[in-house]
Amino acid sequence: MEGKFKSLSLKDFQMRFPDEESCKKYLAEKKWGNGFKCRRCNHHHYCSGGKPFMRQCTSCRYKESVTANTLFHKVKFRLVHAFFIVYLVATNKKGISSTELSRKLQIQQKTCWLFRLKVLQAMESKLTMGLEGNLEIIDFTLGKNKIKKNGQVKFVKKRVFMAIEKKGKGVSHMYAYYSKNKSSRELKKFVKKYIKEKSSIICPNWSSYKPLQLDFDVTFAQRKGKKNRMGLSKRIASSLKAWLRGMHGHAELLQYYLNEYSYRFNRNQMKEGIFDHLLERMVEHKPRTYLDIITYHPNQWVIPPHSTQISPFP
Ligand SMILES: [Zn+2]
Repeated sequence: MEGKFKSLSLKDFQMRFPDEESCKKYLAEKKWGNGFKCRRCNHHHYCSGGKPFMRQCTSCRYKESVTANTLFHKVKFRLVHAFFIVYLVATNKKGISSTELSRKLQIQQKTCWLFRLKVLQAMESKLTMGLEGNLEIIDFTLGKNKIKKNGQVKFVKKRVFMAIEKKGKGVSHMYAYYSKNKSSRELKKFVKKYIKEKSSIICPNWSSYKPLQLDFDVTFAQRKGKKNRMGLSKRIASSLKAWLRGMHGHAELLQYYLNEYSYRFNRNQMKEGIFDHLLERMVEHKPRTYLDIITYHPNQWVIPPHSTQISPFP
């Protein structure tokens, strides 16, 4: 992983969130800071719901806890630990494994694994802006040996499409997408989701990429030649692959990790704290069940129309 993250020190974290009350207070402020609105009947008046920070609508009597309708919903351990996991995921430059979280917090590894995936879910791009300008698109495979029931070893490959937006001599933003295969149909899904019209694209000279010429200014990179025109994307692809091998060797649920890598990469220069940003995303995001988490795949995503409004990337 490249670049530096501005991060909150552990001491600052502990001062901000020393106990359950401080975490609940934070959630209440984020949820209802601009006023209360009942999710059932849109009524604006409330009274106490009987538990700390819980609110009850005075019209329909609907009760809402501070964690309801957020990614903290039904968290199985103390909120201060949940906040600490968000902190560790946000401030470790290369991320943190569920085994490491389990060791640090003395919480079951599977519980940490599931909650960490919820944090990674919050890292998914909102796609308020796509990539534009001078881009490179590349594809590569990730693989591992899987031992079948009969003892035979099978090599399982996963295909990834990746696009980078160039700025000066470097790269400003990138996205990566786990694809079923290398077909032009899959490439089209990726491009539709992440890339804005009128971009100039450099890509490999393969048949899957040819249809891009219909919508974009395309230059095919030379496979052989003096100038390697796709040097930047190749360099980032190899960093991404090295990071995946080191952190998530099995590469199951690959799209989460691609999102994690893109999120960190795209926030290299972020001025405000990545921890606060992630916490806010956790509050804004609707709850996810275990089943939602394990069945998540980008092919199921709804492709939103790219917004043209100017907003913080992405
Ligand atoms: Zn109500």
